[in-house]
Amino acid sequence: MQRKILVTSALPYANGSVHLGHLVEYIQTDIWVRFQKMRGHECHYVCADDAHGTPIMLRAQNEGITPEQLIADISKEHQADFAEFAIGFDNYHSTHSEENRQLASQIYLANRDAGHIESRTISQAYDPEKEMFLPDRFIRGECPKCGAADQYGDSCEVCGATYDPTELKNPVSAVSGATPITKESKHYFFKLGNFEPMLREWTQGDHLQAEVGRKLGEWFDSGLQDWDISRDAPYFGFEIPDAPNKFFYVWLDAPIGYLASFKNYCDRTGVDFNEFMRADSPTEMVHFIGKDIIYFHALFWPAMLKGAGFRLPNRVYAHGFLTVDGKKMSKSRGTFIKARTYLNHLNPEYLRYYFAAKLNNTIEDIDLSLEDFQSRINSDLVGKVVNIASRCAGFINKRFDGKLSDSLTDEALFNAFTDQSESIARRYDNREFAQAMREIMALADKANQYIDEQKPWVLAK
Ligand SMILES: [Zn+2]
Repeated sequence: MQRKILVTSALPYANGSVHLGHLVEYIQTDIWVRFQKMRGHECHYVCADDAHGTPIMLRAQNEGITPEQLIADISKEHQADFAEFAIGFDNYHSTHSEENRQLASQIYLANRDAGHIESRTISQAYDPEKEMFLPDRFIRGECPKCGAADQYGDSCEVCGATYDPTELKNPVSAVSGATPITKESKHYFFKLGNFEPMLREWTQGDHLQAEVGRKLGEWFDSGLQDWDISRDAPYFGFEIPDAPNKFFYVWLDAPIGYLASFKNYCDRTGVDFNEFMRADSPTEMVHFIGKDIIYFHALFWPAMLKGAGFRLPNRVYAHGFLTVDGKKMSKSRGTFIKARTYLNHLNPEYLRYYFAAKLNNTIEDIDLSLEDFQSRINSDLVGKVVNIASRCAGFINKRFDGKLSDSLTDEALFNAFTDQSESIARRYDNREFAQAMREIMALADKANQYIDEQKPWVLAK
């Protein structure tokens, strides 16, 4: 039966370049999408730049340009990188779009009308010079535990302590250098706890990997907290419809950006948006994400969709992080490699193959070992697969007009190859790409052995 699948990768933030860690996800998703399309399924792969929030607002100010200009420039860079890595998005959009404004408002208002939004006054750090509330990351000071200087407002990079920004000693605003004051403001909260029974059931179904479901169990045990979804002006984002000078927190409209990109695509191509979105939709919605954003995608996102009367995701597929030579990517070690830096030196297909050879359907980290990378490209990709073509292309072109035979004298060998197609297909569908690559490389070995034995260039003479 033909499946109809909407597939997304997480949205890259419009504040920096795509790096090899990001590419694990885009390559993983792209391989899965290509597979589904080759099987004849209707599969739509959409993405967008995540374009809102304080870091983008402040960076644009520092560069003396508008946030709109900044996000347009970054989107161009991101899309050029993705295109060269052959990531086949059917649509690439922005969360700063009219479609997203409308959908975010619609989802918010539906949840408000159903009693899932509440407002209350909270106290927060405020920069009196810059006249803005400060996110934790924009407050620096001395760690209350170990005394290390110049630490963030929420955690210490030296001793690893986490704390409240008010505990920081000698705090300063990272924006202006002023000493922050505490100021009250009305915030809007999404009442996640209203969805607890639904979420408990949903997260224990087959929507998530089993290990992710177990992790969520711990979060339920510690209680589902209300989620602060508003930020005060000045903020680069969407103003909340019934609350002047209050804006949706970037994480509210980021996942809605999946739907906005899809809406933009549907309007352009005639695909039926409502067929995919209605609560009883027969279609599938599949999200590929990193394991660091599970909370948003497995709790907030299904709850918001449910509250608005939309369909829920069928699958949320999380993956691990990329390490380089066994360590976290690091600027100082030179292992924080941007997509563009890689492209300046190496063929993107090498990395696609390498990641495929490493990826499975768990949330374990995957390691890019530079030595292993070189040897796998040389021995597997070039030495096995490409070798078949390079040994045979010459005589096939010279003596057989570039045409391949439709049979093999060794019928058993031919059948052994075709018999394996369903097994390899299952590997692809289950995101067990490493196993699929192993099966394919074992076939390549058999093909090379056959060529060694038959010496077809001799036979051809
Ligand atoms: Zn510390």
